[in-house]
Amino acid sequence: MPNFNITNHIIVKKQHTETSAIRTQLPRTDFQEHSVPLYLTSSFVFEDAEDMRASFAEEKARTIYSRYANPNTDELIEKVCLMEGAERGFAFASGMAAVFSTFAALLDSGDHIVASRSVFGSTHTLFTSIFPKWGISHSYFPFDAPEQIESLIRPETRILYAESPTNPGVDILDLELLGEIARKHNLLLVIDNCFATPYLQQPIRFGADVVIHSGTKLMDGQGRVLAGLAVGAESLIDRIYRFARITGPALSPFNAWVLSKSLETLPVRVDRHCENALQVARFLESHKKVHWVKYPFLPSHPQYDLAKKQMKAGGCVVAFEVKGGVEGGRNFFDRIGLLSLSANLGDSRSIVTHPASTTHSKLSAKERAQSGITDGMVRISVGLEHPEDIIADLDQALSG
Ligand SMILES: *Cc1c(COP(=O)(O)O)cnc(C)c1O
Repeated sequence: MPNFNITNHIIVKKQHTETSAIRTQLPRTDFQEHSVPLYLTSSFVFEDAEDMRASFAEEKARTIYSRYANPNTDELIEKVCLMEGAERGFAFASGMAAVFSTFAALLDSGDHIVASRSVFGSTHTLFTSIFPKWGISHSYFPFDAPEQIESLIRPETRILYAESPTNPGVDILDLELLGEIARKHNLLLVIDNCFATPYLQQPIRFGADVVIHSGTKLMDGQGRVLAGLAVGAESLIDRIYRFARITGPALSPFNAWVLSKSLETLPVRVDRHCENALQVARFLESHKKVHWVKYPFLPSHPQYDLAKKQMKAGGCVVAFEVKGGVEGGRNFFDRIGLLSLSANLGDSRSIVTHPASTTHSKLSAKERAQSGITDGMVRISVGLEHPEDIIADLDQALSG
C-alpha cells in the first residue's frame, strides 16, 4: 500500500498512460517544488511512543524504514501500477531481485514451475541451479508450442511463467492463451514484461497475476540505474512485500527517483525506439549479408498477427543472423564503430550483442538451439540516434 495520497489519484481517476507517467507524483512539500525531491533517508521518525507502536503494528500506513518503503519508491511503484493496471507493487534493486523474490515469496519447497524455454539467461540459471536447492522444480515448453503446456502441468505446479517478446529471439507468446490455461488449471500467471514495457503491452489485461520488470532497460532508457518491479494483485504482492521487507532487496531511493523521472518520457522514447527499430529491421531484411531478420512488427515475423494483437508497437530489439557463421559474426562485431558492444538493452545508445558467446553462453549448445539462439545471431537494441547513422554503421560492418 502506498503510504501517501499520491496526488494523481486525487486529480483524475482514469487517464492515458502518458499522463499517468507524468502526473503521478508525491504531494508537494511546504517548498512547493514542481519536480519531486529525493528522499535519501534510510529511516523515518515517529511522533511519540504510541505512533511508533501503531506504525510497527501496521495499524496505520506509515513509512518506517526504507527497506520496507520510501516515498520515492512508492511514487515509482504507484506510477507503474497505474500504467500496468495493477493493484499494488514492490520495487527491487534489480530485475533479477524482482524475479527471484516473486518466485521465492509465492512458492514452497516441492512446488513446480511451468515456463517458456526462452527466458532471460539469469532466470534460466535460477531455475536450473538455484531453485533445486529448495526442491523447486521446473518444466519448459517451447515458445512456439504452447499446446505442450497442459501436459507439463502437475498437481504441484503453481506458476506459469513467460516473457514476450522473448530475449534475444524476439519471439511472441500468446498472452491471452497463457491466461486461459492458467485460469483453467488454477495456476498463477507471471509475465516478465521487460521487453515491451507497460506502454506497449499490459499483460494483466490478458490474465497475468503478477507482472515483472527490469527497470534497467527501457524504463530507465539511458543505461544508468539497475532496478526491478513486481506489480499485480494485492494479495500476491502482499506476500512478495512481506518476503522482501525481511530479506532486503529494496530499490534505493536514488534509483527510484531517477527511474520515476525516466518514466515521464517513456512513451515518447519508446515510440521513437520502435520507429527506429522498424527502419533498421527493414534495412537488414534487404541486406544480402543477412540470413534472416526477426522483429515483431515486420510482416515476415512468424507471430506478426499476434504481436499486432497484444502490442502497441514492436519494441527496440531486432534479432538477425549474419551470413558466414561464427567467422561472419566475428567480422561484423570487430567492424562495428558507432554502435556499442555491450550487454545492456533499451538504452538511448544502440547496442549490439552476440548472445551465443555472452548472455546465453552458460546454456549448453542444445539449450541455446531450443531457445532459438543460433551461433551467428546478433541482437541489436536500437537506440535513439538518427536511424540513418545506425543503418550506416550496420551497413559498413556487414560489408567487411
Ligand atoms: C535484463 C533482464 C532481466 C534482469 O534484469 P536486471 O535489472 O539486469 O537484474 C530480467 N528479464 C529480462 C527479460 C531482462 O531483459
